Amino acid sequence: MPGWVMVLLLSAGAAVALDEGADGKFSKRDSSHFVLFQDVDIDQSAGLRGSRRFEQDVLEALETAYRRADRLLGLRPDRPITVVVYDPDIFEAQFSGLLKYPVAGFYGGRIHVRGGEVVSDALVRVLNHEHIHAAFDAEASGWILPAWFNEGVAEWFEAGATGRGGLTSGAARAVNAAAAGGMLFSLAELSAPTFGGMGPDRARLAYAQSHAFINYLADAHGERRLREWVRAALRSGDLDRAARRNYRADLATLEERFLAQFVSRGN
Ligand SMILES: [Zn+2]
Repeated sequence: MPGWVMVLLLSAGAAVALDEGADGKFSKRDSSHFVLFQDVDIDQSAGLRGSRRFEQDVLEALETAYRRADRLLGLRPDRPITVVVYDPDIFEAQFSGLLKYPVAGFYGGRIHVRGGEVVSDALVRVLNHEHIHAAFDAEASGWILPAWFNEGVAEWFEAGATGRGGLTSGAARAVNAAAAGGMLFSLAELSAPTFGGMGPDRARLAYAQSHAFINYLADAHGERRLREWVRAALRSGDLDRAARRNYRADLATLEERFLAQFVSRGN
């Protein structure tokens, strides 16, 4: 779950300057919608060819995410999104104090990626997740989104990047257990800008429940409706009004229906 680590880093990440590479040098490469900076020292550790390949694969994965986000969510930011690929040691040294467990990347004004030799499925999922934060950042134009929406959509989008989508079995178990114990959050409780202030267990549940809520909307009302709602919300800055228009129900009603699933399932 890269997301909740990312949010802790929003401020720290944004402060990371591009001249903080191992020796202050970054190489630059563009694709249609992304500008990638890579610590040139990776060239020495991974070998020039390996690192170029890695850069290319990261950009390819991001362009794929861009097209998918356009198709599924109508997100197509036109400003280039900056991606920084770090030497793995530099990544650890700069961010490990802030990270609670190892991650391959996070978003904080830019997409930050731990360099490597191959773009694994795990990294593809991270890139898809962080692309949503970058796209929302570009398209919500200064509006601070509630975390349940920002993280819920990012988790939902990430899950469909590899495999069939939906909640992981661990996340589904956590949500079901919380529902059975009457411990689910209200949407209001998940409406801070980040889950960064929560402890690890509460944050895990917050991510899983936000994902489950977006999943519910996609399953119950279809992906096309989800896209229309996201578009309308970003345009108007009003999630509830966009919900009333697109779902013919306000958020409180949608939340009730989401919670009712657990009752009817006997959980
Ligand atoms: Zn996230």
